[in-house]
Amino acid sequence: MQTTGQSTERVAELFEKLGGEISDGFPTIHSPVSHTKSGTAYLKAPGVVMLARPQTNVAGLGGFLEGFGSSSGFPAYIEDPTALPDSSQLCKTAGQLCYMSFGPRRTTNENAAGYFERLTSAGHGSVLEHASFSFLLYGISRSVTHELVRHRAGVGISQVSQRYVSGAVLRFVERPEYQDDRDLHALFEERADRAAVEYEAMAGRLLERQEQGAALLDAEYKTDARKKVQQTARSLLPNETEAPMVFTGNVRALRHIIEMRADEHAESEIRNLAIRLFLCLVTVDPILFHDYQLLTLPDGTYKVTTKYRKA
Ligand SMILES: Cc1cc2nc3c(=O)[nH]c(=O)nc-3n(C[C@H](O)[C@H](O)[C@H](O)COP(=O)(O)OP(=O)(O)OC[C@H]3O[C@@H](n4cnc5c(N)ncnc54)[C@H](O)[C@@H]3O)c2cc1C
Repeated sequence: MQTTGQSTERVAELFEKLGGEISDGFPTIHSPVSHTKSGTAYLKAPGVVMLARPQTNVAGLGGFLEGFGSSSGFPAYIEDPTALPDSSQLCKTAGQLCYMSFGPRRTTNENAAGYFERLTSAGHGSVLEHASFSFLLYGISRSVTHELVRHRAGVGISQVSQRYVSGAVLRFVERPEYQDDRDLHALFEERADRAAVEYEAMAGRLLERQEQGAALLDAEYKTDARKKVQQTARSLLPNETEAPMVFTGNVRALRHIIEMRADEHAESEIRNLAIRLFLCLVTVDPILFHDYQLLTLPDGTYKVTTKYRKA
């Protein structure tokens, strides 16, 4: 079977270097939590957990294919000796249905990478929309998520509600540029402490107003009151506030996002996220990302690129 066009060792090496692990076929790159001296929690890198991936029932095609008779050669489709990742198999089957390419002259699974290269190089990316992946993304700041949610096509997003959750789960994200600079790092920690304290103080004051029956926070039920306090208090939280989400995208959308956001011109924090997304995806399905190259930039960070952009 053809796999990825780039060195799989290179991908595996970076995946491991970033703390990547695979459990039951689901890759994860966790992000450790740090604390300031005052105990404010913060993270230095995105955490990416693959929550869901396709499962494809090729055998289920049997009854359909048999209906065309044994002379068609279609029934043998489900006996292809080369197993593909489920996401590749799903997209390949969808693509082959278009031309009823189930007979002996079809592209077999052994040549799946070439099959997808023909599609992506021609911009026929619609079959890639069948395979979706879901991720938990954390250790990402509000400014990164504001960029990520600009991608509308082919995605689903559920993000933490700053109206609903309390200061007890408040965490911050330190930008890569601050981490190795003593002054900038100290300033970041001071800022995070200050924001946490100010948020708590503001929430406390707003609750007092609420208890005194202020019209501003007029709320009949406790949840409403809490929401009204938090939706007001959150206004002082910085862009550095962590804003976790569950993010689902189909492969066509995910490819576009990686191409835009793992590019050298992308903002550094979202590039860190896009690189991790790529590493998890290419680990699970090297075929659908066969054309991608993982490259090291002069500053030692990474980018991902392909000659078949925007399939
Ligand atoms: C380096 C960089 C700098 C940026 N700077 C800015 C900035 O200064 N200001 C700013 O506002 N944004 C900025 N952006 C965000 C950018 O403009 C896009 O909003 C974002 O990248 C989402 O990409 P997309 O438009 O391709 O949308 P996606 O939702 O990812 O859509 C994928 C593709 O589907 C098609 N599509 C989606 N929606 C529609 C639609 N409604 N109509 C027709 N076709 C559609 C398009 O072909 C689109 O490319 C920047 C992005 C990058 C990567």
